[in-house]
Amino acid sequence: MQTTIQRIAILDENTISQIAAGEIIERPASVVKELVENSLDAGATYIAIELRGGGRTEITVLDDGRGIYCDDLPLALHRHGTSKISSAADLFSVRTLGFRGEGLASIAAAAGALEIVSREAAQNFGARIVARAGSVGAVTRVAASPGTKITVRDLFAATPVRRDFLGSDKAEFTRVSSFLSRIALGWPRVAFSLRHDGRDVWSLPAVRDPVDRLEMVFGKGSRGSLTAVRSAPNIMIGIVGYTSRVGADRPNRQGQVLFVNGRLVRSAALSAAWSAAYSGKIMTGRYPYGLIMLSLAPGDVDVNVHPTKIEVRFVGAAAVFDVVRHAISDGLDAGTEKPESEMPLSLAGVPELSPKDYELAPALSMLEGIAAGVDSGQTARALGQIDQTFIVISDASGLLIVDQHAAHERIAFEALERGADIGSAPLLLPRIIELTPDQAATMESCGSELAEMGIVVERFGDDAYRVSALPSGYEQRRFDLAGILDDLAGEARSSELASEHRHRLLATVACHSVVRAHEPLSVQEQVTLYERLRACRDPQTCPHGRPTMLRLDATELSKAFKRT
Ligand code: ADP
Ligand code: MG
Repeated sequence: MQTTIQRIAILDENTISQIAAGEIIERPASVVKELVENSLDAGATYIAIELRGGGRTEITVLDDGRGIYCDDLPLALHRHGTSKISSAADLFSVRTLGFRGEGLASIAAAAGALEIVSREAAQNFGARIVARAGSVGAVTRVAASPGTKITVRDLFAATPVRRDFLGSDKAEFTRVSSFLSRIALGWPRVAFSLRHDGRDVWSLPAVRDPVDRLEMVFGKGSRGSLTAVRSAPNIMIGIVGYTSRVGADRPNRQGQVLFVNGRLVRSAALSAAWSAAYSGKIMTGRYPYGLIMLSLAPGDVDVNVHPTKIEVRFVGAAAVFDVVRHAISDGLDAGTEKPESEMPLSLAGVPELSPKDYELAPALSMLEGIAAGVDSGQTARALGQIDQTFIVISDASGLLIVDQHAAHERIAFEALERGADIGSAPLLLPRIIELTPDQAATMESCGSELAEMGIVVERFGDDAYRVSALPSGYEQRRFDLAGILDDLAGEARSSELASEHRHRLLATVACHSVVRAHEPLSVQEQVTLYERLRACRDPQTCPHGRPTMLRLDATELSKAFKRT
């Protein structure tokens, strides 16, 4: 079989002078980006990424791509050694993700050691080279399967200052995971897998239909919330993608994934065009999510403007903005023409629920201890719910309106805080759930803390996890692990204090384990909820600081009716 070996050469001075250079290795995620982009450029169909210590200790990227010709290994490590362009003119027709020949050299300079083991497809043996502290060793023959495996050890070993700028292992790992799940959206036919500290965290099998990949990354059920975006034919800019239907928006832009010619980019202009397509259809502070992939002639987009190539410049920026906005807004219109399953306007057709279905008592049994005997002597009566969200209570001195979700959150939060007395109860029927890569990455970083709270989740097969124990007294059906992980990931803060972190963790778990708004509650449940709220240390606010209840006492009523 005749295959063309791609040879590596050092760029000439003129080309080098036209390259937007910059320091590109800032953290483990930058290393992973460079290595994964190389694997994609090499035509890999499978890329396995493994980290130790958040990537600080070790990063390995293994692919089944075309490999590096053994004699070229030293050139691969050489600054400006590349097989992707050969002259300055090529800078205007870049079709690969890399082109400056700086990735491996920069990583080698930042790491304690960098090892490449590679077997070029046409060879029947592999070769190995190691760069350590700036010096590159000799190439040796080794047995290897076709493809490339690059291992980076002790990142920033020689530059402790750079090391100090990194977040915790968990924070760095989460960044890597989130980068990978985003880039994977643009390359659905490539399988990706991620391991951390010896554990499989997630894997994305190769799929033909990009929507399958979208569903893996954005979560089950996202398929129904997304509508296709296609540019009109005969336009110089090709657009394919999916955007969230009106009403399926998110609180931040994190779910907006943009690709330009296969390159994952950040672009304020494209994000603005995306939002502009929703103008008048979305509340302020809410953002559409999805995937938009642009393809343009390489000459119409300059990829050589940013050190890490995360930003690009369009030659006709205004036209690109318009085309993107129109394509998205047309996609949205087309998407709404299809009748969606109608939302019930009345409760007709909603199955009758027996009061038992909504029993609060088991959910609150963990509070038995405090609830008993905390008694002010006033008998509270529940008068009912408003909008199945607010409980109306009357007692001797007036009327109380209680936000049922906020109240239950406070109760659950204080119970979790006292953790030790709750204990963990194994579930009779462990629940199997699928997590998205982002959720799985958060599970990886918060799993031990959740376990300390009595929430035991184990990996179960490829993408599935098994919830096998919850804090005693928890109602399984209310427990929303995916919701907890989404909230914890969305708010990941590297600088928070341990006590703040713990508060946030408990508040998040409490929030996703309790009664929600628009849930019918029996009168007994309404009273129980109120009584248990009153028994709390801090009954006036939920753990997020929102009020739990509003009191209208006789004095205020008299004022309102102008009796005083
Ligand atoms: P660039 O990607 O800009 O060319 P790099 O320093 O990242 O520069 O890589 C240098 C060269 O090494 C690449 O041009 C390519 O020929 C080769 N190379 C690097 N990683 C791989 C890989 N995973 N598979 C095949 N070839 C690779
Ligand atoms: Mg590269």
